[in-house]
Amino acid sequence: MAKKFNKTVYCPCCGYITLVFGTTGEMCPICLWECDQEVDDRLTIPSFLNHGLTLNEAKENFEQFGVIKEEFANQTIPFEARKFYKHINDENE
Ligand SMILES: [Zn+2]
Repeated sequence: MAKKFNKTVYCPCCGYITLVFGTTGEMCPICLWECDQEVDDRLTIPSFLNHGLTLNEAKENFEQFGVIKEEFANQTIPFEARKFYKHINDENE
C-alpha cells in the first residue's frame, strides 16, 4: 500500500516542502535541519541531531543566515534554487 503524506512533507524549521516530516535522520537541503522525531515540531526541545539547537533557535538562525547554524551557510543550496521547492505558506495552486 502506498505511503500516505498528509502533514508529512514540510520542514518544521524553514517550512519548505523538502522532506518527510516525522522521519528521523533526513536532512532538509535548504536549512539543513535534520528530522528529529524526539523533537517533531516542538519549538523548545533541544535536538541532539541538530547540535543541541531547539527549533526556535534554528528558525532564528534560518532567518539570519539561511541555515540552522551560521557555520553551515556555505553548505546549503544556492538561494536561487529555493524556488524549485514549495513553501508551506505558498497558497494552494
Ligand atoms: Zn528546512
